[in-house]
Amino acid sequence: MEKTTALAATLGSGNLLGQVAANTAKAEHDTSFSNPGQQNTALVRINPNSNMPPPTDHGTVPPVWYSFDLAHRRVQEGGWTHQVTERELPSSKELAGVNMRLTSGSYRELHWHLADEWAIMLAGKARVTLLTAEGEMFIDDVSAGDLWLFPAGAPHSIQGLEGEGCEFLLVFNQGSFSEESTFLISDWLKHTPPDVIAKNTGLSAASVAKLPKDEPLYIFPGALPSQSLAQDRAESARVVPAAKQQYTFKASTMQPTFASDKGNVKIVDTKLFPVSTKISGGIVTLKPGGMRQMHWHPNASEWQFWIAGEGRMTVFNAQQDARTMDFRANDVGYVPKMAGHYIENTGTEDALFLELFPEGNFQEISLNQWLRALPRQVAMAHTNLSAEELSVLPEKSLPIL
Ligand code: MN
Ligand code: MN
Repeated sequence: MEKTTALAATLGSGNLLGQVAANTAKAEHDTSFSNPGQQNTALVRINPNSNMPPPTDHGTVPPVWYSFDLAHRRVQEGGWTHQVTERELPSSKELAGVNMRLTSGSYRELHWHLADEWAIMLAGKARVTLLTAEGEMFIDDVSAGDLWLFPAGAPHSIQGLEGEGCEFLLVFNQGSFSEESTFLISDWLKHTPPDVIAKNTGLSAASVAKLPKDEPLYIFPGALPSQSLAQDRAESARVVPAAKQQYTFKASTMQPTFASDKGNVKIVDTKLFPVSTKISGGIVTLKPGGMRQMHWHPNASEWQFWIAGEGRMTVFNAQQDARTMDFRANDVGYVPKMAGHYIENTGTEDALFLELFPEGNFQEISLNQWLRALPRQVAMAHTNLSAEELSVLPEKSLPIL
């Protein structure tokens, strides 16, 4: 216990210390826990379950944690952006994320890219535009908690609206995605001979000379929209038809897919949001003491983004390997395809996080339901439990316990 007390002085009081103490007490090599040398106490404080793993952890599991607060932030007039991709979190080969801020009136420049873009508005409001492959225009305003899906190749724009502008998270179904490698309109025009632009557009040489020639715009300040959403739509509709499909989804007002007194989860997949054919997501709230059940996803890896609160997750990756990490707001979690996992709220506030999957259909298998549904003799032979004990397990898949 002396070791735990010494660590207490390092870590300060609080719930995480209790976690370390609990892990230490359970550790098989209790007396070997002493650490007289150097340590990065700030990192130890935020990730006690990595520094002193539960004794059930074992082996080498590919990285399951990164944080946007470790990623380079590109700041320029009008906002900023940073990304967590396969370069930062090498195990995530199928999904990457970008967190971006646009001040009031500022634009993310007109662009397109190789991957589908799934997004959730985290704060504020934006007006978005998208030209479909059918030559239709989609325009909408997106508020906090709402989503959009822009298919690969479809050109789009985002503009922060009145007040605080906006901040949002983008998720791409390509681990190697880079926010630096999108196709920008100013970049293309700058790299096309002016006479070709004149021939293509019908513009005079004097008009072509006005086009931007400096560094790509990427993020830049602008004036707030001078007309309402309805007026913008009407103006566009005089040129091309309005999009038949809806590329935004009002997740902020949807009823939870599952709710209990320990939290709720909103699952948005292609059944609810038809244009999202390659990415699905869950928006999870865990109350203090709540737990995302032990489960796995048979069809997809999971990329998590933490918005609020704190929690811990253990990823079981076969071969006797398991890894536990702690999570907080702005952290990214990763679960390899098929790997078993749970998530516990270890804090005193609600934990809010996103689960993203590079598949349009959401699928989850519950350990509880599996054991409960098996013929009892089979379940008993594998667990040493009696039929009576097994009947304690929930019959249904309960995402939150
Ligand atoms: Mn984009
Ligand atoms: Mn999961």
